[in-house]
Amino acid sequence: WTEGTAAQADASMSELAALAETAGSQVLDGLIQRRDKPDPATYIGSGKADELRTVVLDTGADTVICDGELTPAQLNALEKVVKVKVIDRTALILDIFAQHATSREGKAQVSLAQMEYMLPRLRGWGESMSRQAGGRAGGAGGGVGTRGPGETKIETDRRRIRERMAKLRREIKEMKTARDTKRSRRTSSGIPQVAIVGYTNAGKSSLMNALTGAGILVQDALFATLDPTTRRAALDDGREVVFTDTVGFVRHLPTQLVEAFRSTLEEVSGADLLLHIVDGSDAMPEGQIKAVREVVTDVLREQRDAGARRDGQAYTPPPELLVVNKIDAVEPADLAHLRALLPGAVFVSARTGAGLTDLRDRLAEILGGLDVEVSVLLP
Ligand code: GDP
Repeated sequence: WTEGTAAQADASMSELAALAETAGSQVLDGLIQRRDKPDPATYIGSGKADELRTVVLDTGADTVICDGELTPAQLNALEKVVKVKVIDRTALILDIFAQHATSREGKAQVSLAQMEYMLPRLRGWGESMSRQAGGRAGGAGGGVGTRGPGETKIETDRRRIRERMAKLRREIKEMKTARDTKRSRRTSSGIPQVAIVGYTNAGKSSLMNALTGAGILVQDALFATLDPTTRRAALDDGREVVFTDTVGFVRHLPTQLVEAFRSTLEEVSGADLLLHIVDGSDAMPEGQIKAVREVVTDVLREQRDAGARRDGQAYTPPPELLVVNKIDAVEPADLAHLRALLPGAVFVSARTGAGLTDLRDRLAEILGGLDVEVSVLLP
């Protein structure tokens, strides 16, 4: 099911397909249902659900992935019709983040998000059973007849999960303090810090490779991770720079992950420069830019306010340099449009090397403290 324009629906669906492939699935077919709001029963409506069942039979698919977040009831109802496993976008993204988490903090954050997602979905058995037992007169919701024997077990499970979540929250807080200390040590080393932000697959790793000659893994998959990676590298002109590749943005990030995501993004606040990489070949680069800037600005503002409270020191947020990548894959007319739209940006191709000299010059100017014009996200 989708709201929004056809182009938005297509972009979201192709990202969903890429996500599914990242998770190790083979994508067989896609189906879009356009309506004002999701069907309360089956999410896509019963007619479309029947159509989906046919697609499942024709393709031999063993799983249906929905581009959105379904209620547990919608998930169950849809599974009954299509007769294969149904998962939603949120579960898929959580799964990928779990697969890719390597640091202790990243793993803890993803576990916390998964439990948060699971908690309201635990009902399953207990509630549907007791609701049947309560009969029609009971109606929706709690009340008489909902306190079956199943409920006790669920209550215990819920309490256990809540306790585990509280413990994880405490651990994450401790790990965050350790990370803050590490960051301030890095910041005081005198080597310029460049934080790379942007959507997943915009070409952040490719650009870092092209700029530094370091062999960082580049994947044509949505490498979703909460772990920021930091690399000290020399630019071609010999200047030393510390690059931090932050989390890649994903469309419709599950709410359960937003907190973890933002906390990881705090890495950007201590940087001397934000290198904002945009995929020029994306159907809607402006939308991407806006979404990234909104979150980054929020995080910077929080850091500034927190910093002001901590030691009264004035905090200068890092300026942003916008880099439009993959220009080799953009039609000349679209490229002209983008250049007019984003006059301050540097246009490059990590693949062909086009524009990289320009980018190096700009980096040297900005990091060298030259008085060049840069955009500031936080006025
Ligand atoms: P990241 O997720 O932002 O780190 O993106 P990657 O660096 O892993 O690149 C994602 C995909 O885009 C890979 O398949 C790259 O080969 C491809 N890519 C990166 N830069 C360019 C470019 O300049 N042109 C084209 N056509 N593809 C690129």
